[in-house]
Parts: sequence; structure tokens; C-alpha cells
Amino acid sequence: MQVQQKINSATIVTVEGETTSEVFQQLAKAFAVFGVGECGACESKDIYPNFRSGIDKEGTAYSYHEMKCASCYSTLSYGLGKDKEIYPKTFEVDKKGKQVKTDDGKPVRIENKGWTKYSSS
Ligand SMILES: [Zn+2]
Repeated sequence: MQVQQKINSATIVTVEGETTSEVFQQLAKAFAVFGVGECGACESKDIYPNFRSGIDKEGTAYSYHEMKCASCYSTLSYGLGKDKEIYPKTFEVDKKGKQVKTDDGKPVRIENKGWTKYSSS
């Protein structure tokens, strides 16, 4: 079974699966990653995916997936899970990558739905 769905004003995804459950899971993943339709900082719809990869000074390969805003230059970073799937980073993490929690144990959301403004300072 193949399903096409418009997930925001600029993006149509096509997903495929043997069962409705598989198709549903694929759609859910597509929404989480590609359903971002506007910049969380300025609400512009003029956003685009950006990908960079390379090898750092220690010889470790790295890659960055991010959504960029052409209006205010904010970016939404994506994390890469152990399952090789990417996800938008909308919660604060510490330097070790552990989720930052409030005193009552709730995860801390990054303001502007995870979009952060570039700062040269
Ligand atoms: Zn913006």
C-alpha cells in the first residue's frame, strides 16, 4: 500500500508499507521530521533543509541535519538516533547528550520550538 499526504504547505510525502500500521508508522516519522512547516522563531515559511558532514580533528566522522530559516537565519537541529532515524531537537540536553530536567522531573523545551538564532558573539 502506498499513501501520499501533504504534511505542510510545501511538502508532500509518499510512504509505503505492507499494512496500514506500517504506513501509519511511516507517516508519523515523516510528520516528525518533515512536517516542520515554519520557523519557530519568526514564523516564516521560507525554510529549507541543510546537511553538512565531514571528519573532525580527531578523525571522527560527523554530520549535521538542520532546518534553516531564510528570513531570520535561525536553525532547528536534528538529532540522529541509534536506529539511524533523525528527529528534531526540541528539548534541552546537557553536554553529554542527556535530557535536562526541571526539579520536578519534566524535560525542558528549547524556546521557539527548538529553533535557535545564529549568534556571532
Ligand atoms: Zn525565522
